[in-house]
Amino acid sequence: MLQYPDAKAVVRALEPDEPVTLLRPHAASRAARFFTQKFPGKAMYAVKANPSPDLIRILWDAGVTHYDVASIAEVRMVRDTLLDAVLCFMHPVKTRRAVREAYFEHGVKTYSLDTLEELEKVVEATTAEDGTRASDLNLLVRLRVSSEHSELSLAAKFGVDLADAAPLLQATRQHCDALGICFHVGSQAMTPFAYVQALERVRAAIAEAAVTVDIIDVGGGFPSVYPDLDPPALEDYFKLIHQHFEALPISYSAELWAEPGRALCAEYSSIIVKVEKRRGDELYINDGAYGALFDAAHVAWRFPVTALEDDLRNPLAEFSFYGPTCDDADFMKGPFMLPEDIQAGDYIEIGMLGAYGAAMKTAFNGFGASEAVLVADEPMFSLYRGDRPDPRESDNVVSLR
Ligand SMILES: *Cc1c(COP(=O)(O)O)cnc(C)c1O
Repeated sequence: MLQYPDAKAVVRALEPDEPVTLLRPHAASRAARFFTQKFPGKAMYAVKANPSPDLIRILWDAGVTHYDVASIAEVRMVRDTLLDAVLCFMHPVKTRRAVREAYFEHGVKTYSLDTLEELEKVVEATTAEDGTRASDLNLLVRLRVSSEHSELSLAAKFGVDLADAAPLLQATRQHCDALGICFHVGSQAMTPFAYVQALERVRAAIAEAAVTVDIIDVGGGFPSVYPDLDPPALEDYFKLIHQHFEALPISYSAELWAEPGRALCAEYSSIIVKVEKRRGDELYINDGAYGALFDAAHVAWRFPVTALEDDLRNPLAEFSFYGPTCDDADFMKGPFMLPEDIQAGDYIEIGMLGAYGAAMKTAFNGFGASEAVLVADEPMFSLYRGDRPDPRESDNVVSLR
């Protein structure tokens, strides 16, 4: 893959007509080392945030050994990429065939569930042809928790209600080697108290069920930084999670797990787009809602932007974006702050697209082609270097560059 110092160098060299994806392996590696060194338990990577095999190899090299997968295609992809990775199948609704293949062909021992039907399914699908039941399963019951502190809710779809958790935990205990409880506080959780609240609910579930619990999995939700979304230091999250985990009535050797997606890969990539047309404060660009900007369109996520021309006058003004397809839904409201004299033919870098950006891209309407190149500069924002108001020990994690 071609390598450049930064986005401006890419524009000078390629004058690209299609969007270009800029990859920063050093940023992903730094995020992974931060979690492997500082999270007080095991941090796996939630593959759906960015299922790139290149990224998965970078995370592995930085010490991430466990991968949260949600579909049989993700199981196969990670297994093909990393022979020795530990895979955890954390989608609470799976098919029998997927579980059977995951268990017998790919060695997957860890599954989440939120109903008795799913428990039966997993037990049945992991039973050998001669009727021998699997004796090495880690089964995690997904508890429904509040998403009130997060930007994107994951509370409605999955998770058993606290009121119904006890019988499910008791039944699951009969069929596993290690019993766990997992939850997801919603993506981009803006305060560590989201996890404290959820762990209080876990405590209530354990007390009610009176079972021995071996694994507490606090899921994903760890934030990244975006315009208007500047979260507290991750150390604060880790400290509170650790304190409240330690105070749970669980077995002495219980393990603490997490499944960060966004926080591990948001800084990994950005894109260069070209302005094709300007109409007032609307810029028509060549990527959009069906490309890497799904969240910008559908949940009005504000990604950071920089104009890549040297001859533009400040001050900055507010712009919205139209993507390249032919429908009005391909619209990103922003506001995106760019020099007021930006015009057709100019290039823009849109940052922090490593999580849920590349992963959502489609080829709708014939758009979506994009080249990827490596760049060596810093991401526009970072949780992992000392340029934040309260960087604390994040300063100690330095880039390998
Ligand atoms: C999406 C998801 C994650 C990752 O969430 P982030 O908010 O990106 O950290 C982790 N676990 C499960 C079960 C998920 O569905």
